[in-house]
Amino acid sequence: MPAYRAPRGTRDLLPAETPAWTRLERLGADLASRYGYRRIETPLFEQSEVFERGIGAVTDVVEKELFRIAPRTDEAESWALRPEPTAGIVRAYVQHGMQTWPQPVKLSQLGPMFRYDPPQAGRYRQFWQFDVEAIGDPGPAVDAEIIELGTRYYRDAGLEGVEVLLNSIGDPTCRPAYVAELTAYFDAHREALPELERTRLERNPLRLLDSKDPAMAALNAMAPRITDRLCEPCAEHFAAVRAHLQALAIPYRLEPGLVRGLDYYTRTAFEFYVAGREGQQQALGGGGRYDGLVELLGGRPTPAIGFGIGLDRLVLALAETGVTEPAESAPIAVVVGADPDATSHRLRIATDLRAAGLGARAELGRRKLGKQLEAAARDGAHFAVIVGDELADGDVGLRDLPAGTQKVIPIADLAREVGRAHAAHRHGPPGGGAGSA
Ligand code: AMP
Repeated sequence: MPAYRAPRGTRDLLPAETPAWTRLERLGADLASRYGYRRIETPLFEQSEVFERGIGAVTDVVEKELFRIAPRTDEAESWALRPEPTAGIVRAYVQHGMQTWPQPVKLSQLGPMFRYDPPQAGRYRQFWQFDVEAIGDPGPAVDAEIIELGTRYYRDAGLEGVEVLLNSIGDPTCRPAYVAELTAYFDAHREALPELERTRLERNPLRLLDSKDPAMAALNAMAPRITDRLCEPCAEHFAAVRAHLQALAIPYRLEPGLVRGLDYYTRTAFEFYVAGREGQQQALGGGGRYDGLVELLGGRPTPAIGFGIGLDRLVLALAETGVTEPAESAPIAVVVGADPDATSHRLRIATDLRAAGLGARAELGRRKLGKQLEAAARDGAHFAVIVGDELADGDVGLRDLPAGTQKVIPIADLAREVGRAHAAHRHGPPGGGAGSA
């Protein structure tokens, strides 16, 4: 056993795993920019109050899962690692006066989040989220646009059959009366409530609706539904979101139990699941409208909506469905040679190839030429550049490894020749058949 290990609930992403992450990060950045979301980076930690006020003190995320940073004696402020991106982004929106920018301000971020969750499959203490936020747009069209963007992200990532669960959780006009009614309903069935749910009832009764405890299934099925209690404006908004989704041909399923864990949500709430797995599995991603958050964090009342898509669970789901990542790019050329003391020549030639934009590696060790060539083939390189006696005349050997052919060419022509031959190999001869790689 090594003396030091990554902290419990965190992982090292090793080179065999990172191509999936690189691909998903690029996809997120590309989609965000196509949809007009601009990149923002906020600190990995914030004043704890940003989360306590923004997310709500009586939520699992703040109560149980917030990674608080132990204060140093000389500092009055208390900080916490970000458990989700929205509160920090809204803090930045207020701090930098983005209310004066043309609205909506559409922002995107992709990075690590931290929650002190009990670690298990798909639940880590450091995980990654791709996040978009449209701040300053009351919807309902942008609600549908954001949900469509989420479904496209999964589809482009290669995960088929992602289902959208949709709900509206009302607003401060209609929700309080509903929460009172719900509390009375559960109170009347107090005896049937599991212990944990009984304590939740006092503090955050909406959370009982998304309880995963099987004992709650029957009770929840009979519970009053928020969507039957929405005030007129919320009901109209919800109907319009659904109409827009229909117009975009985005299938969704209404899920009255979907309340999301965080206090700041209003109206539209949604989650993404692998279809058929809603019962046993955690959500792949989720989001919703948070019309009260900007004001809560000190700004003017500003409607907003966003989502957070977890990359860790997406990578797991892709692996489960057998989606494999394209092979990592091999070096195009490996520079080899029989003279163990000619390292600096090999290094310089590889450096020149790289400067010309080609992936190249030089053999820097002292192994035999045969071993060097074997290693080059094992790396999947297209060419071996062989540095030998011809160097005195300004020439090197160029071996096409898959074709098994070799010729001598001037070093001055090397980069051009390698680049041209590699491109032809990949794309096939001009006007001719398919390439072989
Ligand atoms: P939430 O804000 O809890 O709805 O989280 C949004 C998404 O982030 C989830 O759907 C997950 O994909 C991901 N996520 C949340 N918590 C974790 C965690 N502890 N480990 C891995 N992914 C998580």
